[in-house]
Amino acid sequence: MFMKKKNIFSQIINKEIKSNIIFQDIDVTAFNDINPLVPIHILIVPNVYISGMDKLSKDNIYILGKMLFVSSIIAKKKKISSNGYRVIVNCNKHGGQKIDYLHLHLLGGCDLGKMINLSN
Ligand code: 5GP
Repeated sequence: MFMKKKNIFSQIINKEIKSNIIFQDIDVTAFNDINPLVPIHILIVPNVYISGMDKLSKDNIYILGKMLFVSSIIAKKKKISSNGYRVIVNCNKHGGQKIDYLHLHLLGGCDLGKMINLSN
């Protein structure tokens, strides 16, 4: 459907494996994290493969705005917007990135104020 590269997130996007997709349009897909760290833990990914933040370029930078916008819409739908939430991106080894596919973590549903360790 959207992308050929075979990692776990492209398989989710293409519905080749079971997952809990909560939003999908022509640009992005959002689904629940398989190992949620907080009550609401959703991943937002571009449908076209980008390995990570360090691979954004002038040709694909628009997608990050779309991913952030979709995060904000989902946060409202999940009713975590008024209390607040956090969006993070892990990049490469020191950033704790484990999946080689650009993704935002939308985290909420509890007080994240003191939470700084976001690795699984
Ligand atoms: P990273 O550390 O790369 O920023 O985060 C990767 C995230 O992907 C982790 O929070 C992990 O729980 C999640 N994840 C890994 N494999 C799967 C999967 O097969 N399905 C889903 N829904 N999430 C996954």
